[in-house]
Amino acid sequence: MPGTPAGSALRFASPHFRLERLTDGVFAAIATRDGLALSNSTLVDLGEETLIFDTTMGPDAGADLRRAARALFGERPIVLAISHYHWDHHRGSQQFPGSRIFGTLGTREKLLPVAGPPTGEERAMWESELLELERQELPEAERAMWRNVFRATIRTLPQLQTIPPDRTFEESVELHGSNRSARLVTFGGGHSISDAFLHLPSDRTVAAGDLVSVRCHPSLGDGDPARWRGILDRMLALGFDRVVPGHGDVGGPEDLRTVREYIETLEERTRTALAAGADPATAAIGPVPAPYDAWWLRSLFEQNVRFLYRRAASEGAGPLPPK
Ligand SMILES: [Zn+2]
Repeated sequence: MPGTPAGSALRFASPHFRLERLTDGVFAAIATRDGLALSNSTLVDLGEETLIFDTTMGPDAGADLRRAARALFGERPIVLAISHYHWDHHRGSQQFPGSRIFGTLGTREKLLPVAGPPTGEERAMWESELLELERQELPEAERAMWRNVFRATIRTLPQLQTIPPDRTFEESVELHGSNRSARLVTFGGGHSISDAFLHLPSDRTVAAGDLVSVRCHPSLGDGDPARWRGILDRMLALGFDRVVPGHGDVGGPEDLRTVREYIETLEERTRTALAAGADPATAAIGPVPAPYDAWWLRSLFEQNVRFLYRRAASEGAGPLPPK
């Protein structure tokens, strides 16, 4: 549908995300800080079908995402793709019954064992997270956001369904429509065991999942930071003008370099502390260095530094992989 009017986006409103037009037929759904999307999605007009990359953390925002797709591109089949297995990126998928879901083989393998309704242990896990949240030292705005997210997750547990991808790929897959072609690509795991991103060559646009955060701390602790840096370099070589990050506002290629520098800075701090004789189990985390001290999701900083210490310790406190 060429010439999608910007006004159709403006007529749509959700408390969970705001729609941002990127190109003619490509929109980002940027998670609001007090809503229940938590992560960003990207909506793409393929022509005959609508592609949605990442489906938010749950059924509330997922339902609005489906409404947004219809408001933007009309009633027609919707195809989903998910970037990785973390809960905040795909638990809205259940609001798209009958839609195919693309994802990497690695993501499917992680989600298959937890497919269907959540286990009883999950409720206990979220309730303990909620208690732990009150004990953490956090900016109040972030505490309020997590409280809202955890409570909503507990509330929606009786209806939640985890749906693994049913269309998998190992390197890339292309979806062709009359308006554009979309590529789903993985260069392996960096942020998680397997990370995919969406590349829209004719729009010079990438949706990166959690491989990129913009002015938000990325989460290192479930991945491989050295591989992550390599993945960012390969993505940069594709050439694009804008990136929809997993968290934060729409950015550009410079934001991939910023995430790379963030990883390097934290690795360097860990190396320096260990070289000075710090015990990885008790080594100080220290204040968040500038410019990262102004970033959102600050609780991830401490988790990231602890992860890097643990990792160095498990490698015999030897040097981290070379830059
Ligand atoms: Zn993630």
